[in-house]
Amino acid sequence: MNLHEYQGKEMLNSFGVQIQRGIVAQTPAEAVAAAKKLTEDTGTGWHVIKAQVHAGGRGKGGGVKLAKNLEEVEKIAGQIIGMHLVTPQTSAEGKLVNQVLVAEDVYYPGETETSEFYMSVLMNRATGRNMIMYSTEGGMDIEAVAENTPHLIFTEEIDPALGLLGFQARKIAFNLGLSGKAFKEMTKFVSALYTAYVKSDSSLFEINPVLKTSDERVIAVDAKVTIDDNALFRHKDYAELRDLREENPVEVEAKAVGLSYVDLDGNVGCMVNGAGLAMATMDLIKQAGGDPANFLDVGGTADAERVEIAFNLILKDPNVKAILVNIFGGIVRCDRVAQGIIDAYKSIGNIEVPIIVRLEGTNADIAKKLIDESGLDVYSVIEFQEAADKVQEVLA
Ligand code: GDP
Ligand code: MN
Repeated sequence: MNLHEYQGKEMLNSFGVQIQRGIVAQTPAEAVAAAKKLTEDTGTGWHVIKAQVHAGGRGKGGGVKLAKNLEEVEKIAGQIIGMHLVTPQTSAEGKLVNQVLVAEDVYYPGETETSEFYMSVLMNRATGRNMIMYSTEGGMDIEAVAENTPHLIFTEEIDPALGLLGFQARKIAFNLGLSGKAFKEMTKFVSALYTAYVKSDSSLFEINPVLKTSDERVIAVDAKVTIDDNALFRHKDYAELRDLREENPVEVEAKAVGLSYVDLDGNVGCMVNGAGLAMATMDLIKQAGGDPANFLDVGGTADAERVEIAFNLILKDPNVKAILVNIFGGIVRCDRVAQGIIDAYKSIGNIEVPIIVRLEGTNADIAKKLIDESGLDVYSVIEFQEAADKVQEVLA
């Protein structure tokens, strides 16, 4: 589950990570009130108005702007709230901005130059350990840094039994070229960040930029936080932070009924039981010259009700030109699934795309007979290859 920047920052701060302070606002009037409150609390004269959407690169798309007085706060908040923000990480239509974060300006001039660093915490899958990845080249495109100057990206692996050790935090501060007060601040920042990562059961933190201010403080100016969905049961307070407006509506609907569904760009919808068979079916569709429109695992109980829900989810996608049902009847008998498909088909009514059904396993022959005799526009096949050939045929 992804958090908004403002939620991520609040969570980090609850573990002692220093952040650029801010208040979320839904309207320009709320933004002005937030700015006034921040001036009282922090003494800041300028504010940054930041679009809150689940996508990075907001600055480039015009979703992060500096306001030098309250009139500008109101005007900029009015421009950003309600806009469709297009960034390198969104689709061409962009994402609707429902709210903004009004934050204190932290790039104020002072004794020293400000510096922007990059820092993330994530699992290194090759070693099975958490690592902190960091770079002096923060603020900008980290992908470009990785491409052009990979030697400027450092990693620090953490032993799960020992946790982040003091010398590791100091090494990071040293590699970032810090000294004096900023060096100490960075070691505290890194330690608090790692604690937050572990205690919140997150799977990704990406803080870009981590800022060294002109008065040598170290703070998170941005926060991308992904919490492991499988751990949400022990973080009820985080589960409440989910913003369904940011997620694919069909995926949200599927999740609510306990189906695992992932929307994809292709033209062949698939309904499969078991994740492994679902992957194999997607490969089969590719081989047949199609492209999977989704991943959908209907799980063990493929009864009429579930099959109907699954058909309805698949049919919401206007790109779907055919549907391939590939179900192995082990625990669930094929004839029951076949009856489910027939009932669902009749209940939905106007299905206009061809459906290819492959049922294999217990009572597969009875199932095939049921479908063949149903008089519906459903093709039943038994062999994997037959299914592929039929997909190819209906797409042609
Ligand atoms: P992203 O573009 O989605 O990654 O959003 P960020 O939160 O990283 O902000 C983008 C950029 O806005 C940063 O890299 C900064 O250059 C700028 N920015 C953020 N906060 C401030 C601020 O307080 N003052 C000024 N002047 N610029 C800021
Ligand atoms: Mn950023």
